[in-house]
Amino acid sequence: MNKELVKELRNLISGEVLFDELLSKHTSFRIGGLADAWIYPKDISNIKNILKFCNSHSIPVTTLGGGTNVLIRDRGIRGVVLNLAHGLCSISIKTDSVICGAGTLLSKLLKQVAKVELTGLEFAAGIPGTVGGAVVMNAGTKEIRNIEHVSIGNLIESVKAIDMNGNVCELGKEDLRFGYRKSNLSKYIILEAKLKLKTGSKKEISDRVSILLEHKKSTQVLDIPSAGCIFKNLDGHSAGRLIDKAGLKGLAVGDAQVSEKHANFIVNKGNASAQDVLELIKKIKLTVFEKTGVELEEEVKVMGI
Ligand SMILES: Cc1cc2nc3c(=O)[nH]c(=O)nc-3n(C[C@H](O)[C@H](O)[C@H](O)COP(=O)(O)OP(=O)(O)OC[C@H]3O[C@@H](n4cnc5c(N)ncnc54)[C@H](O)[C@@H]3O)c2cc1C
Repeated sequence: MNKELVKELRNLISGEVLFDELLSKHTSFRIGGLADAWIYPKDISNIKNILKFCNSHSIPVTTLGGGTNVLIRDRGIRGVVLNLAHGLCSISIKTDSVICGAGTLLSKLLKQVAKVELTGLEFAAGIPGTVGGAVVMNAGTKEIRNIEHVSIGNLIESVKAIDMNGNVCELGKEDLRFGYRKSNLSKYIILEAKLKLKTGSKKEISDRVSILLEHKKSTQVLDIPSAGCIFKNLDGHSAGRLIDKAGLKGLAVGDAQVSEKHANFIVNKGNASAQDVLELIKKIKLTVFEKTGVELEEEVKVMGI
């Protein structure tokens, strides 16, 4: 972005603007090159101004939440990256529902609704990231013990979003499509979501949360940078099991390694580059296909140039 545009952009926005911001600071993988501009918009009108400015100068706009499901390439992301954590993170609790800003951490939302004995969101225990990212990805947890499989799409009543032309819209159930780790919302910036919950008991909610956290602690890798599961589970095939069976646990390219604990996690042992991870992904896909005939599909979103 040239200096004049940088100056104009800074004057236009009341929220914080960081130029040449290293994206590895904003991803759970600790990987990713520079963003030309990283912006924390304060409110919706701020986002509208940014979109208008960027559209008139052909500057691409990307939104990132907690950066927990992304692999950002080493040359980073051109244009503007929006993060809603400083402005769109209100939580408004009703009798049997909650309306929350997309920048809210899912863990914070779970804590707040549990406090007032609203149940339904326990599946989110241990899922890092924001409400916006969870809605786009339709984040969820498979059935564990007697706790049923739930994804966030099961709870959504409506979503407030803005399209890339700056039009704000309210999307109801009839407009929304959720599938396994996907939605039809990738062309929008999610601003807010309304989730339907039920009255529950504090003890039952806390028991379910404890079971899920314990399960995730014993199966997932939580102490080394990663982006969670790299591949989707396909038609009853657990991607982790296929990778494990193919003998790939521990396989490494540079500092990127298939976790010894959970084969569907790639961990960054220190200085892994996006290129290392991409090469490792390629090797895993090829070997699993050769050995099992199954074509793995990425769950992680690869972004940037
Ligand atoms: C240790 C670990 C464990 C995990 N466990 C689980 C799990 O059990 N279940 C599960 O489903 N996932 C899991 N994940 C993956 C990840 O946490 C979820 O997908 C999460 O919901 C992503 O949210 P985020 O805010 O980090 O999104 P990001 O990673 O920032 O973004 C993901 C995608 O959403 C888009 N996006 C983000 N916010 C917005 C917005 N406001 N508007 C429009 N687009 C947006 C981004 O552009 C990107 O395409 C795990 C990840 C880690 C690191």
